[in-house]
Formats: sequence, structure tokens, C-alpha cells
Amino acid sequence: MSKLIIFSAPSGSGKSTIVNYLLQQNLNMHFSISATCRPPRGSEQHGVEYFFLSAEEFRQRIAAGDFLEYEEVYPGRFYGTLKEQVERQLNEGQNVVFDIDVVGGCRIKEYYGDRALSLFIQPPSVDELRRRLVARGTDTPEMIEGRIAKAEYELSFAPRFDKIIVNDNLECAQREALQAIKDFLSR
Ligand code: 5GP
Repeated sequence: MSKLIIFSAPSGSGKSTIVNYLLQQNLNMHFSISATCRPPRGSEQHGVEYFFLSAEEFRQRIAAGDFLEYEEVYPGRFYGTLKEQVERQLNEGQNVVFDIDVVGGCRIKEYYGDRALSLFIQPPSVDELRRRLVARGTDTPEMIEGRIAKAEYELSFAPRFDKIIVNDNLECAQREALQAIKDFLSR
């Protein structure tokens, strides 16, 4: 039976690198396709990167209870996971992968229970996270402090996940995540 694998982490934890590595391991893992009311960027296509809904359509689908979870990520910009889409991907035999915030990750885990594995990718420490964000060079000092405050909040969710993977060494973290997923998929 196809399953769900949820990844959540504070930003700067190296989650995307780990998730992209795992997607290349022939485990039939495919990203869940979310819905959003932001307009498409560049070559993005409806039904590929996202389902692009109008704000009105998005509101109607919230009211109809169509979302497993949704969030206003930026003011007026909603993003969410459609139950129907997850079911469609599962029915097609895909193992569905979520790269999602801690709250959304916990919701999906609650809904799917043992059919889902929730992994929390944890940076080694807040100081190390700060060093990585500085080294990345994409944020102003104020933005970095904002991200750190958010990370501290997000870190408080770690115990709710099935497994915490501390990313102090990328190769070790990748190996550990791969093993956990192989064990889970073979159960
Ligand atoms: P972007 O507009 O750059 O594609 O995504 C912006 C943000 O929306 C990212 O932080 C991403 O994690 C978040 N996001 C994308 N899809 C979903 C979703 O289905 N649920 C939630 N809660 N957040 C999402």
C-alpha cells in the first residue's frame, strides 16, 4: 500500500537537500501537489507545481472542508493540501511526500496515523542555524533574527514527530532518513 512521508523543519536545517536526495532513491516518492492562490511564476503549470486557485475558489474550498491543512503563508496568500489530491496520488500508487511547515505536518500525520511517517529535520543548534543563515548570505540581519525566533517556535514541535533527524552531518542525516523510510515502506 502506498504511504505518506512528511518532512518538516525550521528553515536553514538542510531539509530541501535531504528531501531531494531521498526523491532520487527509487522509492516511488512523489511530492504532494498543493493548492495556492498566488499567481504562477515563470514556467509553473496548473496541476504540476501547484493547483492555482483564485482567492474566491480557495475560500470556497476551505468552507467546503476540502483541505487537510492550509495556511496563510503571506498576507492574503493561502497555501494548502487538498484531501482529494492526496487521495488521487495514493490511489495512483505513489508514496506521497510533504515538505511542509510543522503545523501542517502534524495535521497530516494526525489524519493519516500509521499510514504516514513524520520526520523532523533538526539543525544541530540555534547558533549553528544562525551561522548557516549568515553563510547563505541571502538575508539581512533582521531577517535572520526573525527566522531564528520562528525556528525556536518550530523546534518546540519536534517531539510530536515520529522521528527527529539531527542534521549535523549531511551524509549521516541522509543515511538515517533513508533507512527510516525504507523500514517504514517495508512495514
Ligand atoms: P512558494 O510561493 O515559494 O512556492 O511557497 C511559499 C511557501 O508556501 C513555502 O514556505 C511553502 O513551504 C509553503 N507551502 C507550499 N505549499 C503548502 C501547503 O500545501 N501547505 C502549507 N501549509 N504551506 C505550503
